[in-house]
Amino acid sequence: MIRLRSFLGGEWRDGEGEGAVLEDPATEASVATTSTKGLDLAGALRFAREEGGPTLRAMTLAERGKLLDAMTSALQAKREALIDASIANAGTTRSDAKFDVDGAIGTLSYYAKLGLSLGDRRVRVEGEGEQITRSKRFWGHHVCVPRHGAAVHINAFNFPAWGLAEKAAVALLAGVPVVTKPATSTALTAYVLVETLVDAGVLPKGSLQLVCGGAGDLLDHLGPQDCLAFTGSGDTGAWMRALAPVTQRSVRVNVEADSLNAVVLGPDVRPGSDTWQAFVRDAVREITQKTGQKCTATRRIFVPREQIDAALEAIAEGLSVISFGLPSRDDVRMGPLASAQQLRDVQEGITRLEAAGAKVAFRKDGAPVGVPVGKGYFVPPTLLRLDDPHVGVVHEHEVFGPVSTVMPYGTVDEAVALVAKGEGGLVASVYTDDRDALERLLLGLAPWSGRVLVSSEKVADQAISPGLVLPSCVHGGPGRAGGGEELGGVRGLAFYEQRTAVQGDRALLDRVLG
Ligand code: NAP
Repeated sequence: MIRLRSFLGGEWRDGEGEGAVLEDPATEASVATTSTKGLDLAGALRFAREEGGPTLRAMTLAERGKLLDAMTSALQAKREALIDASIANAGTTRSDAKFDVDGAIGTLSYYAKLGLSLGDRRVRVEGEGEQITRSKRFWGHHVCVPRHGAAVHINAFNFPAWGLAEKAAVALLAGVPVVTKPATSTALTAYVLVETLVDAGVLPKGSLQLVCGGAGDLLDHLGPQDCLAFTGSGDTGAWMRALAPVTQRSVRVNVEADSLNAVVLGPDVRPGSDTWQAFVRDAVREITQKTGQKCTATRRIFVPREQIDAALEAIAEGLSVISFGLPSRDDVRMGPLASAQQLRDVQEGITRLEAAGAKVAFRKDGAPVGVPVGKGYFVPPTLLRLDDPHVGVVHEHEVFGPVSTVMPYGTVDEAVALVAKGEGGLVASVYTDDRDALERLLLGLAPWSGRVLVSSEKVADQAISPGLVLPSCVHGGPGRAGGGEELGGVRGLAFYEQRTAVQGDRALLDRVLG
């Protein structure tokens, strides 16, 4: 069994006691232990602010881009070890492990290139500025400079590699040092990732620290220049927002939380058309990829009332060929849930939906393939049908597993109102070739969604699946989804920067700001 340590103050440090035991969720075998008890987490924040921050701020944006490029290469060289860690501790199939690991590498690489394109400057200036008094000499600019604090990243269990990298890439490019904390239950991949970067010698002192295990008193020491970015449950996010250091010191907070992502099949789409096939293909992928444990996975599927039987049949047919079981086997397409707690939560969530009137339309038969009888945290792919789409619980409770509910709608306006009942999501997707319907859906869904994916006949075989988060487009969503925003290319940097209005002699400012 491996002992995981935290990387703090430039050294690997072990907490007291046995701490938490990390499992292989397919077999329930113990794979690692970790503890943060007794570690100096206030010291880690100081180290970030005093060592990492000044070093990163002395680098130009292009130099920070080179740092991200070096991190990309180091991880690329250890890709197989990262994939193995994910399979062993997160219960992912090789394909799902690649989704996490390659997502991490790809996001770092994207921000590396962005940094290089931003050039040899340390300050980002917005636009050309403007004359702000009657004098042509007196000019106003908005400049974006790195905050002088630490970026504290608290991540969810479902993307131990990508979650770490997508947050770290943006903060480091902005010039802010990172203290990252993966969820304890699946921390092995994050540990291997940071170990790889440390061993490669690419990290400037204090630029990236790892808290491997419980957060201890870390958040008690947040200061006015620090940023806290959290991904996980809405309840934990709400608790973090209300912490005294956060409210009293105006710590910047970004929350990515629960999301009942919705799909609307347009009124024009007929079974067998290219748009229909894309809808079915994506629904099956979103239910089963990473065993449904993606913050962007589809939870609610709205279809025209007259298409509900055909839609259920087509999605069920797609799910019927998904084998689930031991994720290291080549013939297995879906692994277990990530932990015993996840299993309890998902089973309880299905029971709640059934109590509200949902019926199981499809559930894959049989025992998990290749797993000792009774072992592992498995839930088969499950498709539910709910004929009354106005029932509250389906719009309120996120079942974080391989489960989606198909519901009928009458008019496009009703579909919009039903999506909005989720009170804010990370992604909504629309499958239609009807321009009028699309316009009403877009205008209706966008205020409730961080991202809207539109799939139609001409892009049916080129469009991404709704659950794929790309670094160039924003990730986050209003309301229940946490109200946050990450990534989105250069937009993501703003969270880690102070935007300051600078007013003065235009010629002088131009010389200083370049
Ligand atoms: P969680 O319990 O909120 O945990 C998320 C992260 O917060 C973990 O790193 C956890 O650390 C940490 N944490 C929890 N309590 C904390 C505290 N008091 N102080 C400091 N850190 C704390 O969420 P989860 O168990 O990962 O997932 C539960 C649900 O969240 C899912 O079922 C799903 O509904 C939602 N979720 C949403 C997203 C998204 O991106 N929108 C992603 C994943 C999950 P420990 O692991 O050490 O406890």
